Amino acid sequence: MKKILLVLITAFLMAGILSGCSRQQDHDPEDKKLQIVTTIFPVYDWVMNVLGDNPGNAEVTMLLDTGADLHSYQPTAADMMKITSADIFVYVGGESDEWVEDVLKNSSNDKCIVMNLMDILGDRIREEEHVEGMEHDHEEEETEYDEHIWLSLRNAAVRVKRIEEALSKADSGNASVYQNNRSSYIQKLDDLDRQYRAAVSRASVKTLLFADRFPFRYLTEDYGLNYYAAFAGCSAESEASFETVTFLARKIDELNLKAVLTIEGTDHRIADTVIRTTVSGNQKILTLNSLQSITARDVAQGISYLTVMEENLKVLKEALQ
Ligand SMILES: [Zn+2]
Repeated sequence: MKKILLVLITAFLMAGILSGCSRQQDHDPEDKKLQIVTTIFPVYDWVMNVLGDNPGNAEVTMLLDTGADLHSYQPTAADMMKITSADIFVYVGGESDEWVEDVLKNSSNDKCIVMNLMDILGDRIREEEHVEGMEHDHEEEETEYDEHIWLSLRNAAVRVKRIEEALSKADSGNASVYQNNRSSYIQKLDDLDRQYRAAVSRASVKTLLFADRFPFRYLTEDYGLNYYAAFAGCSAESEASFETVTFLARKIDELNLKAVLTIEGTDHRIADTVIRTTVSGNQKILTLNSLQSITARDVAQGISYLTVMEENLKVLKEALQ
């Protein structure tokens, strides 16, 4: 796949198309809208919130808008064109975004503002963790940084601020609008963060159990929750061994958990098996949305990062009963 990408990039270069995130003239609202390219939905939604009610002077693209797995995404030729002609390009910068380096390396990238959100977070980023009872991914021996950074409400404020600064720089005429939008949006993020904290401190249970993949490391860490899961991060493995199923079932019994969690878009096969293996066999299956497969259609229907995280709070409250 990498090879194909390089061939494509080379082809662009030879055709002289890849002018590269590098339009020479300054942004002129008269003739051209600000071109902003984002990868996944949470990033797109933060940009839209900073742009505010009247995002008319910008055109914002969300590259991953079909619900396809972000962990195996590769850009099309059209996607690469968009990135290399953007004024601002914002991406997560984790292991699923390794393709970005290849695209940027080959573009003459002097005007474009490129934002790698994991770089911005610095020492706030965390490695994927292997906790007791998890399946081990035998193909992947080295520890990777957990790229699901958008699942920390707390860190979202840092990233939104940087997005606003980039917008204000690229479109200085509207800087005060962007700054106002940024403060009111960060206030909403902070409010919701407070609600999460309050819910967790009131909860009698402080452990979440996922009979599934586990992209929620940042969320559990923000609120001091313990967790168990079948797989670390978004491991490509999907079969849980007898040992894993038994371990999770015994934990449910031991901690008297009322719910087993899954993430969106997966079947509940492992959760069903785990529940059947517990003593009571009557736990509820709940789903936390990790915002990894939001589509253009969801966006058109008005979904937002905040509404999903509000729904997740309801689920969390139920899981911690
Ligand atoms: Zn993932």
